Amino acid sequence: MSAGSKKYRLRSCIGIVRDKQLVEFFDSNTRAGFVIRLAYPRLTELLHRFDGSLTTAEIGSLHADVAIEELIDLAQFLHGKRVLIEVDETYPDLYVGSRPRLISTLEAYFGSTSEVRRSISIGLQKNVLIIGLGAVGSWVLHCLIKAGVQNITVMDNDNVEISNLHRQDLFFEDDIGCSKVEAARHNIKTAYGVRIKTACKRMDSVEDLTSLDVRPDLIINCADNPSVDYTSRLVSDFSLKRGIPHIIGGGYNLHLTLVGQVIVPGVTACLHCFDKKLSIANAADLFGVKKLNRKNRKIGSLGPVCAASASITATEAMKIVFGIPVEHLAVANKRLEFSLANLDFGSFAVERDLNCSHCSNTGQIICLTGHAVSSSERLLRLN
Ligand SMILES: [Zn+2]
Repeated sequence: MSAGSKKYRLRSCIGIVRDKQLVEFFDSNTRAGFVIRLAYPRLTELLHRFDGSLTTAEIGSLHADVAIEELIDLAQFLHGKRVLIEVDETYPDLYVGSRPRLISTLEAYFGSTSEVRRSISIGLQKNVLIIGLGAVGSWVLHCLIKAGVQNITVMDNDNVEISNLHRQDLFFEDDIGCSKVEAARHNIKTAYGVRIKTACKRMDSVEDLTSLDVRPDLIINCADNPSVDYTSRLVSDFSLKRGIPHIIGGGYNLHLTLVGQVIVPGVTACLHCFDKKLSIANAADLFGVKKLNRKNRKIGSLGPVCAASASITATEAMKIVFGIPVEHLAVANKRLEFSLANLDFGSFAVERDLNCSHCSNTGQIICLTGHAVSSSERLLRLN
């Protein structure tokens, strides 16, 4: 296809401000913008012709005072700057009617409508496994259902208790005494018509994951029994070997709420890369501190704070599900935390250790978009 025969559309999130010869393009999705100098007097009219219905050559024929080569150059420049999206496929009415804002969001990350369409159609088939339906997992599940993720398996062996209702999502008084996974399955089916899969069991070993009858494309660990460290290690051991992206669920650390980090095997820092870095930082923090054992210590938990952590986790999960390029993950190679006292967010950066004995030799590497990743591609992504 020649450059002049391509069709482009101004992305719906782009704002344009013109001041004489200076034109500012502002992306409302990413909050990024740039200014260029364009002297053409009918510029506003010209830009609005990029509505996806005309080829660049056809637009050129309506603006005979612009050289076609210059117009093609401008279109390609604005496409590269994510101002224009190439319109090479139309979206199904179902997508436009039910997921317009998802489309608008995804258009910020892809160069053409066919790529956005492929991202949605692949994303709707991805299998997500959520382990633990507690104060974080239940909110993550609800967020993903709202976003349209359809193939979800939940794993938990607890029953709903009255003390769960004030901070966990999806459970109601009628559910007290029922298993959490069954209550969630029923309530989601009733509210959204979506059938999730359930595994009413606790994760005690990697075998509890290998015995599941689903091959997850993403695992989100929200289990904290016997501890987040223990369950995270099991998920890491299972996922690294299989090249499965995984998210280590958030939790509490003194007054801080932690947001689970996203791990893409062979691409980002793994749990052990984090442990190595954090153990050094924690050792410095706790130098000379004596630990007092208190048996019945209970840490506070507010539903909205759990939801805030879960919402960030679900946002990152959506990026993986819909194949958004890995460089756009926000909680990869970093631990994110926020304080309940002032809601200030802080982060602790952890680069991938290329000599890590756990993730430097991961066998099968699966790219987020579904194709194999070469080692050179991986290096590029790391940089
Ligand atoms: Zn590692």
